[in-house]
Amino acid sequence: MADHEKRVKQQLNELKEETNTRIEEHKREVEQQTIHHEEATEKRITAHEKETEKRITAHEKETERRLADDKKESEQRQAQHKEETKNRIQNFQDESDSRRESFQKEIDQIRTLAGDQAKQLATKGLEEELTNLNGTKGIDDDDGDLLTSSLENVPNFEGPLVYRGIVGEDSACTEDLKLVTSALSVIADTPSQTDFNSEKTIYCIMPAHVLFTDEQRDKGAEADKSRWGKEVGATIRTIREKVSQQLKGCMHWVQLETTNDTKIDLRQSAMFCYRHWSYQPDEEIPCPEGKCTMQYGQTCHHMFMNDVAILPLRYQDDVELSKLFPKPVSIADPGTQLFKITHVAHLKSLHIQERPVKVQGFDGTLILQNHEDRQGIRYGANITFSLDARKPQEHFIGALVYLKVGNTFQPFGMVTGTLMETSQVIFQAIVLSEALKDLKSDFDLVGLKPYAFS
Ligand SMILES: [Zn+2]
Ligand SMILES: [Zn+2]
Repeated sequence: MADHEKRVKQQLNELKEETNTRIEEHKREVEQQTIHHEEATEKRITAHEKETEKRITAHEKETERRLADDKKESEQRQAQHKEETKNRIQNFQDESDSRRESFQKEIDQIRTLAGDQAKQLATKGLEEELTNLNGTKGIDDDDGDLLTSSLENVPNFEGPLVYRGIVGEDSACTEDLKLVTSALSVIADTPSQTDFNSEKTIYCIMPAHVLFTDEQRDKGAEADKSRWGKEVGATIRTIREKVSQQLKGCMHWVQLETTNDTKIDLRQSAMFCYRHWSYQPDEEIPCPEGKCTMQYGQTCHHMFMNDVAILPLRYQDDVELSKLFPKPVSIADPGTQLFKITHVAHLKSLHIQERPVKVQGFDGTLILQNHEDRQGIRYGANITFSLDARKPQEHFIGALVYLKVGNTFQPFGMVTGTLMETSQVIFQAIVLSEALKDLKSDFDLVGLKPYAFS
């Protein structure tokens, strides 16, 4: 037993020892593994850190590069934009220069043309005068006198003034008012529906708006702006009816400012045309009122501004008439004839040339005004000019505007007012040749002839 016990004990010891060794070994192993693992982890962390750092650096570099690129690009863009802008400005300057040049060329052409015409007229006039002189007194050497004397053909006579006054106690008029100048008269066949007992009727001319109330004036000016055709006709018809009623409540007469002894009454019936705006619906129908047929490029009298009224004179005899209108001059006569304008562009070219004008002996200059056209609505063509005058503006309403043509002045417009909101006073006038055409066709006037006075 003792042997057996000994052996077991020994075996046990051996087992213990072995186990201890194994435990030791395992411990060491674990320790080693731990160390190894720690080392590995550390390594990994370091590697990761390095990697991250690398990445950050790379990203920073990338960002820097991108920023640099962006900067370069934007600099390039700026440079390009600068260049483009420069080019654009240059182009614009070139364009406006060439426009100015072509405009100047146009003006020069017109000037040359006008100059040639003037020379022709002057030469022709001079030749005629010389022929006349040859036939009577022989040749006069003083050519200058002939030229200046023909420049003095503008009548000094300003024409009688139109007054409005009270008829009775219930009169629509409350006081005697001086309305306007009437520097022109027209003679026409007496309309058949009137009770006038002469074949011909003499009318005095004045701007139509002086017969209107403020409301009628505004409405009349707006009329053509609202709608084309019927509407326009309806508005002007309404105003015509109302004004006819008003005229019956007032009295109108003409007299000279200087004398009180001669007055000539005006009949209480007026014919008038009034137009500020016109509407051109499309290229196919060029006439704003759809009434005129015309060739391509032509214009009609409906494209011109109008503000004209004629009132028949109620006179007893020629003596009475001659006191007010001393020397009627048919403006169909050469030298005093009405200067006809039948195209809007013709009127514009006269303004571009800044042609000289005379009104009641005062010197003036045509000045081009740009009336804006919008959506087919346009301001009626009219005369605009400055005047070197020392009289109140109102004094010129109704006065004749004379245009310098060659070496003479010819009547071509009637002053209707002044433009608003301009730094210098700009007078406005209607083109008489077109205004009278309008009147003639609207009222079927036959044998109409205008007369200026001297
Ligand atoms: Zn008309
Ligand atoms: Zn027309």
